[in-house]
Amino acid sequence: MEVLYSSTRNSDKKITASQAILKGLAEDGGLFVPDHIPSLTCSMRDLADKSYQETAYEVMKLFLTDFTQAELKKCIERAYDSKFDTDVIAPIVEAEGTYYLELFHGATIAFKDMALSILPHLMITSAKKNHVENEIVILTATSGDTGKAALAGFADVEGTKIIVFYPKNGVSPIQEKQMVTQKGANTFVVGIHGNFDDAQAGVKELFSDKELAQELADAGLQFSSANSINIGRLVPQVVYYVYAYAKLLKEDKLSDGERMNVVVPTGNFGNILAAFYAKQMGVPIGKLICASNENKVLYDFFTTGRYDRNREFVLTSSPSMDILISSNLERLLYRVAGEDAEQNAALMESLARTGAYEITEQMREQLVDFYGNYASEKETANRISSMYENTGYVLDTHTAVASAVYQKYVEDTKDKTVTVIASTASPFKFTRNVMNAIDGKYDTMSDFELVDKLSAISNVDVPTAVAQLKTAPVVHDHVCDKTEMKAIVKHFLGVDA
Ligand SMILES: *Cc1c(COP(=O)(O)O)cnc(C)c1O
Repeated sequence: MEVLYSSTRNSDKKITASQAILKGLAEDGGLFVPDHIPSLTCSMRDLADKSYQETAYEVMKLFLTDFTQAELKKCIERAYDSKFDTDVIAPIVEAEGTYYLELFHGATIAFKDMALSILPHLMITSAKKNHVENEIVILTATSGDTGKAALAGFADVEGTKIIVFYPKNGVSPIQEKQMVTQKGANTFVVGIHGNFDDAQAGVKELFSDKELAQELADAGLQFSSANSINIGRLVPQVVYYVYAYAKLLKEDKLSDGERMNVVVPTGNFGNILAAFYAKQMGVPIGKLICASNENKVLYDFFTTGRYDRNREFVLTSSPSMDILISSNLERLLYRVAGEDAEQNAALMESLARTGAYEITEQMREQLVDFYGNYASEKETANRISSMYENTGYVLDTHTAVASAVYQKYVEDTKDKTVTVIASTASPFKFTRNVMNAIDGKYDTMSDFELVDKLSAISNVDVPTAVAQLKTAPVVHDHVCDKTEMKAIVKHFLGVDA
């Protein structure tokens, strides 16, 4: 059955999956959502014997119904190949009786690679299918990980250019180095004076700038997005929840139909929304545990029904979760509002105007599968050190937030359901904070000394992505104010004449 996509703010107009991928964001500022969540057509038992690539095909074909089998399989093959340092793509590691789904074995050692290694292929296939002659300009705001993963995915991809904005003082040194050393004549990286929300707001504004869109069109260009607002990011993320369940079933860690809880360290709400979609597709998922850092706007939302971004923005050791406006939450709201675009649009209008909104009691009742909690900086650091002491396994700061929240959940509920924690980054990406958590004595070491030390104490080889950074030259040094974003984009694209 065909799946069509419409905006969360107006469900009248429906478009195909490939059109939604090309557009990224709807013209009314809403996000594209599927008109229904398809059910899996393969049993979990049958999926248990499939490879990651085969599982990806079984899941993605149900959402991307206007892609041919050959098109989709080609995209999958090109994405999940030797860029990943393991054939299984997303290995599961057991520690303290819980399963860590390691989503960081791709080119940039964070979970964004799971979707961004395939998005460029989905995008150029979509362009061909829709006879788009324009060059596609990917415009992206990043809290650190999306930027590098998108740059790596789109670098030198014919028919595309990519522009990335990141908060100049809001990413880790390794994250920044990864971005500013990105090769590829079609890549452009800019630090902005502001935080991630500023970058994201600026990008959204450029997307809805009709005058700019016309100027680009005249020059044979059009924008698209690699942010998790693009449905082409979300669909590939559903895959690994299906895969994780199937693998645990195969290894007899789960029995047929038994429930599995999922814990996700959350920022923009894309990853956990993918888990929600997996549940809707029929994967026996129990609770969806949403873990926040000290920017605990989602915890407050799940406990009170009120979303309120009017608070101080905290820079934490898990910068990819330093977000006060979780864009993808809008997709969940739309669903729990009974796919009522008008009601959703009113909430978003309130968010834009006052920075807050409150959902109805009816909507809240539909969020029973979600549990929200948060971890302080201290709890996060303690979690890294206690895990290391107990098992020798080293968690990154984001995964440690999730692990700490999971402990709180078990304490609160005594729920012993089999649990998978989404492990979203390699500890080598946040080395200083990770090593400081393990022992304060490491703080005097340089970033690259710390990397070698981490490798020694964890018995894990330094990932290639980090080893290469030591010698990589800096090729991007642009910095601008948030008010200058439009001018710098036009300049880069050569439409400022
Ligand atoms: C992006 C990111 C997150 C947050 O994921 P969302 O889909 O934005 O909720 C968590 N951890 C890491 C390491 C990330 O890069």
